[in-house]
Amino acid sequence: MDELIASIQERYLGALDRIAGAAKRSGRSPEAVKLVVVTKAQPVETARAAIEAGVRILGENYAEEGVTKIQSLANFSAVEWHMIGHVQSRKAQLVAGNFNFMHSLDSLKLARRLDRFCAEAGRILPVLLEVNVGGEESKSGWDASEESKWQALPGEIAEIFTLPNLKVLGLMSMPPLGNDAEFSRPYFQKLWRLREFLTRQFPQAAISELSMGTSFDYEVAVEEGATYVRVGTAIVGPRQTKTEKV
Ligand SMILES: *Cc1c(COP(=O)(O)O)cnc(C)c1O
Repeated sequence: MDELIASIQERYLGALDRIAGAAKRSGRSPEAVKLVVVTKAQPVETARAAIEAGVRILGENYAEEGVTKIQSLANFSAVEWHMIGHVQSRKAQLVAGNFNFMHSLDSLKLARRLDRFCAEAGRILPVLLEVNVGGEESKSGWDASEESKWQALPGEIAEIFTLPNLKVLGLMSMPPLGNDAEFSRPYFQKLWRLREFLTRQFPQAAISELSMGTSFDYEVAVEEGATYVRVGTAIVGPRQTKTEKV
């Protein structure tokens, strides 16, 4: 086997083991957690090697870069491509037409556009609502940093639930960067509580998914209830290209 495939496979299987360990420690089933391997800023060859190593869910941050990989690797039909980065409204069509799942739905405006393009493409897009649990200016998503202000969230979110071509499955967040994984724990707990809060507001909506945790804190995320973890560098190595943020 190709060296790149072998090294990705070793780290991928290692990550699955750690996920299973963290799930068991917290009394959860390892199958309840899905591993998204983040290939942003990696060449197509690395994404291909990841698929050949057994990876089934790939995550991309930038619409064009992701679509290039999706099209180059279209013959691997069992693979799911997840958008995990901020998407500008004018890129909504690219995402609606090419991605299988979106973790980073961060505004009502984007939701309306995605819904329209999904209708044109005849597809239903499963999405997660991105919320900002740390309140940092640099992060996208609905501000959910202060629990006392959660009452304001359901108004806008309610409209997203009514969009016929989007299926809201849960929440996603990217906590502030700390020095160690434990720093993230209270933010993961906050995301969990927010899901409980929104579930009480929208009992009919099944918002069960929680996408949280990256290379350095995904085990803590699993202990705190993550159903998706998004792991890049710990599996595919350092990012290769400097992707411009447009
Ligand atoms: C880049 C990125 C990741 C993966 O980060 P790593 O440190 O490479 O594991 C996960 N989620 C989002 C939203 C990202 O942008």
